[in-house]
Amino acid sequence: MTERRKLIAGNWKMNGLKADGLDLASDLAGRLKGAGPVVFDMLVCPPFPLLFPVGEAIADSPLALGAQDCAPKTSGAHTGDVAPTMLTDAGCRYVILGHSERRADHGESDSVVNAKAVAAHRAGLIAIICVGETEAQRDAGQADAVVAGQLAGSIPAGASAANTVIAYEPVWAIGTGKTATPDDVKAMHAHIRAQLEGRIADANKVRILYGGSVKPSNAAELMAVDNVDGALVGGAALKADDFWAIGTSCR
Ligand code: PEP
Repeated sequence: MTERRKLIAGNWKMNGLKADGLDLASDLAGRLKGAGPVVFDMLVCPPFPLLFPVGEAIADSPLALGAQDCAPKTSGAHTGDVAPTMLTDAGCRYVILGHSERRADHGESDSVVNAKAVAAHRAGLIAIICVGETEAQRDAGQADAVVAGQLAGSIPAGASAANTVIAYEPVWAIGTGKTATPDDVKAMHAHIRAQLEGRIADANKVRILYGGSVKPSNAAELMAVDNVDGALVGGAALKADDFWAIGTSCR
């Protein structure tokens, strides 16, 4: 069996000011440094203005830094956008792309996500490409087809296990307290793995995260599911104790 190291990624969304972000990140960085060898990688993805201060605060720790979006362009007249090289400059190794909130709030299509992933890869970032069906799509029996379509449209040529992570986040489970059952997660992650075969040469090494109301009380069960290689966490990533407990639930 291929060993894939678990990735526990915190998506802070539009939460926290500088002092909050520094407290949270420094707390996690301290725990990671003090813990000795752990079986997971840990990542925090603060809002853009916090990237530089948080990046400096955690620079000498194993805690990784990521952003929540990037532009598909490298520089120029794109008011309000942030280029991937600006993210690496701040110390980012990862960038979340195609989160359902960006797809919904900003009309991001698969082709936009694809272009952003190309730009992210060019800058040396690892793209965490998010996919997931709505409740109506699941109820209509379309979940597999929707996710297959998102993967086909969003994953760029040149994607590999070294530069791409997939996050399966059923839209109806994000921030709602509802989680997919372990059986549904197992089936969807196997489906995603199958879609990656043929599209990515080392598909069996690509990490597939589950996201959607992951918390300390359900993390151990979800992280033990086949093909679940970590979690993308929103609400529970804002509390150091909860986020740390999700990490240490990994076996
Ligand atoms: C997310 O924002 O990606 C997410 C999964 O949020 P939550 O954990 O709050 O459901």
